[in-house]
Amino acid sequence: MSKTANIDWATLGFSYIKTDLRYVSYWKDGKWDNGALVEDNKLSISEASTSLHYGQQCFEGLKAYRTKDGSIQLFRPDQNAKRMNSSCRRILMPEISEEQFIDACVQVVKANEHFVPPYGTGATLYLRPFIIGIGDNLGVKPAPEFLFSVFCVPVGPYFKGGMAPVNFTIADMDRAAPYGTGAAKVGGNYAGSLLPHEEAVKAGYADCIYLDPATHTKIEEVGAANFFGITKDNKFVTPKSPSILPSITKYSLMHIAETTWI
Ligand SMILES: *Cc1c(COP(=O)(O)O)cnc(C)c1O
Repeated sequence: MSKTANIDWATLGFSYIKTDLRYVSYWKDGKWDNGALVEDNKLSISEASTSLHYGQQCFEGLKAYRTKDGSIQLFRPDQNAKRMNSSCRRILMPEISEEQFIDACVQVVKANEHFVPPYGTGATLYLRPFIIGIGDNLGVKPAPEFLFSVFCVPVGPYFKGGMAPVNFTIADMDRAAPYGTGAAKVGGNYAGSLLPHEEAVKAGYADCIYLDPATHTKIEEVGAANFFGITKDNKFVTPKSPSILPSITKYSLMHIAETTWI
């Protein structure tokens, strides 16, 4: 087992900590370069980058877990690669091969191994892959160049208290339009969710639940998580809508449960 960083794993929240190395790859003239690990956690990009003005960017989130025997596992990174490519297709960004995506994640975990929390602490190493449009551009069109990067941060549970129950309220606002970008993991959906989230927190809730944007009559999804319920007769139920972000956790649960669409 490798040595571990001097961190109080039990009290970790979901906050940024600079870890040692991150992966960076650039797309130019129709292809991604080989990528490299770098120490610098700052990006130097054109002031006219499409990611800054027109929201041409997407991201992923996955975790590395320490197992009982001390080894490290990623949870279904191939699914994150597929979902990132589906986000890329929706906003005209170049796809990245599943091999390069997984290799980048593995390199970042290995290079920051001492930040992977020990087994049993409840903490994990969160990986944040992202692709952004860069390069000089003014008009509304896809960027001339792109950057793919993966960084990692050791984190505790996303909601304070971990498995302890939290309260949610219903949002009046929407995070996505009926046939908009709700199913793509793009920053724009999150920009639209900042205000309803803040209002929910001010009112004493952990987050808000979004209703279907077309009719506002059905539950659609929670801020950064899909919604499912277990009925009195033990059925797993979950909403189906084109504006829900396809959660890998949810689809994994559906795989092992008999699902009823509501
Ligand atoms: C990332 C995300 C989820 C959760 O996806 P997982 O694959 O389960 O981590 C759910 N809803 C939204 C809006 C998201 O961006």
